[in-house]
Amino acid sequence: MTTVRTTCPYCGVGCGVLATPEGDGARIAGDPDHPANFGRLCSKGSALGETLGVDGRLLHPTVDGRRTSWDAALDQVAEGFARTIDRHGPDAVAFYLSGQLLTEDYYVANKLMKGFIGTANVDTNSRLCMASSVAGHRRAFGADTVPGCYADLDEADLVVLVGANSAWCHPVLFQRILKARQARGTRLVVVDPRRTATAEEADLHLAVAAGTDTILFAGLLAHLAAHDAVARPYVEAHTTGFAEALADAGRIAPDAAAVARATGVPAADVAAFFALFAATDRVVTAYSQGVNQSVQGTDKVGAIVNCHLATGRIGRPGTGPLSLTGQPNAMGGREVGGLANMLAAHMGFAPAEIDRVRRFWRAPQMAEREGLKAVPLFEAIEEGRVRALWVMATNPAVSLPRADRVRRALAGLDLLVVSDCVAATDTATVPGAVLLPAAAWGEKDGTVTNSERRISRQRAFASPPGEARPDWWMVCEVARRLGHGAAFAYRTPAEIFAEHAALSAFENDGGRDFDIGGLAELDDDAYDRLAPVQWPQPRVGDGAERFFATGGFFTADRRARFVVPATPRPAAATADEPFLLNTGRVRDQWHTMTRTGRSPTLGSHRPVPFVTVHPDDARRIGLAGGDLAGVASRHGAAVLEVAIDAAQAPGRLFAPIHWSGETASDARIGAVVHADLDPFSGQPDLKATPVSLAAVPAARRGFVLSRRPLALPGGVWWARVAVEGGTGTLLATDRPLTEMIPAVRDALGSAPASVLDDPARDLWRAAWFTDGRLDAVCFLGPAGDRPHWDMVRVLFRAPGVDPVQRRLLLSGRGADGMVDAGPLVCACFGVGLNIIAAAIGSGAATSVETIGQALKAGTNCGSCVPELKRLLRHAHAA
Ligand code: SF4
Repeated sequence: MTTVRTTCPYCGVGCGVLATPEGDGARIAGDPDHPANFGRLCSKGSALGETLGVDGRLLHPTVDGRRTSWDAALDQVAEGFARTIDRHGPDAVAFYLSGQLLTEDYYVANKLMKGFIGTANVDTNSRLCMASSVAGHRRAFGADTVPGCYADLDEADLVVLVGANSAWCHPVLFQRILKARQARGTRLVVVDPRRTATAEEADLHLAVAAGTDTILFAGLLAHLAAHDAVARPYVEAHTTGFAEALADAGRIAPDAAAVARATGVPAADVAAFFALFAATDRVVTAYSQGVNQSVQGTDKVGAIVNCHLATGRIGRPGTGPLSLTGQPNAMGGREVGGLANMLAAHMGFAPAEIDRVRRFWRAPQMAEREGLKAVPLFEAIEEGRVRALWVMATNPAVSLPRADRVRRALAGLDLLVVSDCVAATDTATVPGAVLLPAAAWGEKDGTVTNSERRISRQRAFASPPGEARPDWWMVCEVARRLGHGAAFAYRTPAEIFAEHAALSAFENDGGRDFDIGGLAELDDDAYDRLAPVQWPQPRVGDGAERFFATGGFFTADRRARFVVPATPRPAAATADEPFLLNTGRVRDQWHTMTRTGRSPTLGSHRPVPFVTVHPDDARRIGLAGGDLAGVASRHGAAVLEVAIDAAQAPGRLFAPIHWSGETASDARIGAVVHADLDPFSGQPDLKATPVSLAAVPAARRGFVLSRRPLALPGGVWWARVAVEGGTGTLLATDRPLTEMIPAVRDALGSAPASVLDDPARDLWRAAWFTDGRLDAVCFLGPAGDRPHWDMVRVLFRAPGVDPVQRRLLLSGRGADGMVDAGPLVCACFGVGLNIIAAAIGSGAATSVETIGQALKAGTNCGSCVPELKRLLRHAHAA
């Protein structure tokens, strides 16, 4: 079979992937020639092959649950939008897009809305991800320019990671940092309230109190000035506003002691960081959602950038601020103008820019002002000001703050259109929705841009199933029905890309950073062959790997602006809501699990929605590890399993963003999160919601392994995950066994072949067999008796079960082939926690290297190496 070069659809690292079709799926490997990863993939990328196939796919257009034809569905969408515009004006319609879309999809959606419908109500889930970086770049540089590139991480002597758990969220890049450290002794400082897997690798971890990063970097600026570490010639030649920024820094953070008091970091650590930064020329400060997802995100970016401008450490090899984007094509979305406050090709809404884009598009109805950003957009939907919405490739009913309100608002729309590859998401199941089946990763063609401005091709290696089509095609069909066929008559994504590239160069004399005019002449063949390429790629001259080493910013006077941040406001809990809730990702899941949730390998790492609690807090509330706890705010509530972890700061909680109404009964954490916004970027603060925490007793716990997902009755807390051969469902309930047993039997559709029924112990276990194979198994018992499925999972995936295993299966005791491997640590080789712990305990493994030799764990993608080190540290401490 032909191997296809493509790009990973998950995080903003943008790793190159080699996909070789095999049966219904594909064999996946890292692309050794891709400059983002040089052949490495993390656990998520490595498991891409497990996420393919038609199960759960949306295969046909449907309207309110009924299958229809493409023509009928597209007519309904076009008529619905036209009717709404006629009655209520163009601002009554909107698109909500996604960093999962390809640039070509994004481009046509943005063009239709902003040039032909006449509103800028086009926003994207990237608003939740990196809008503060965009705003920070534009304030400081005059454009949304990422100055550096990944090679800077190889060439730096100091890497500062701020609000970025890269070991889990950008694993391949983190491995690259560790490799550079091995080669050249790069120092690593991590600024993060949590002691994450990333922080555990750091030479210095600064556990700043939530919302005090600005104070830390203001203090650093003051320190640099006081210790003669400012690059005066660079500052004088290429910037403005230094004196004001320094005066402000001196006011809010005059010295290390003041910074220590405000941030809660020991003064010696603050001083060590300041001294290290001042003394090191090659410094990269990379940052991610801990910076962006904040009411002060834009100011945090500004405070970081200030320190790099002051030292002239920008644009030179091994230097610069570097925003790590969360999504695979957040950058592509920024390039086309897919944010409501941008127009197109890094142009905004200045009259000359509107006029330029109007002439280029020959647009009849240009948007003349910024549109609604994500959170205000959904408020406008709630209030009936926006009445027709098209959601593409995202799941706002789960991921937006106050998600319950968002889901209710969606149900009140006159027209909700959802184009997605998945049939059942919390957004797609809103009653009345028009569902358009979209081609998925591996089936569609286009480009994505990663965090270092590198444009890579995503290439198809399989045909879309059913009637699925690319998003760009759907948009063009709707545009045609709205009377704009000539402007949307693209035959291929290559034609769209060429136009996008031409717009970037249109009347661009070097005053705009985004210029890929050199790619505007690509025909279908050249586009298909396009190798990963970093922008700018102007028509004349060479593209640059880095910007700003010698100034040339994109402000009117070509000087960068030092920013005076607003007075920092540390996040604060309240008497009723005494904890601050931080939300984020886990290592092996992505967004709302619509893709990674299909992988049994990835599901093994953290199969249960959880909340991380500091031991002192847990003791005070009376929580033990594995208990259920309610996390509640004034906006909503979730029930999660308690994970006690000393790495969590007291008074703070962490919960993952991944579980939805499709994968758990009560774990939609977005419903709990408040919608406080950064005033510049409009990005919501997803890191510090005041919440309460309380035990949720459940008399009984258990699990079911089944070939199909189960429908369970009310009064049962459940969470579902893919396991090899089927679905694993964890259960907790107060309902008595006399009610639960028939409910489970009904859900499985038959009586079990083997039963262990012990009413005296409040225990019921049962197994179903088909042709000697274990078909389903259920363990239910008192909350204190909590066997995990790791042991029986081995038999569930086996082709047959021998009599001894069958006899011991319901006893919960092991037999041959029934080893309780524990939660997965190494996804590449399927090595569980208990296996690793046993190897360490026996003395057979004393280091990451010897664990690798004994068990292979940690020898492939490296994503689990921080966890291996943690296990070793704990074992040595014990
Ligand atoms: Fe994909 Fe992992 Fe690479 Fe991110 S680091 S692009 S998730 S393989």
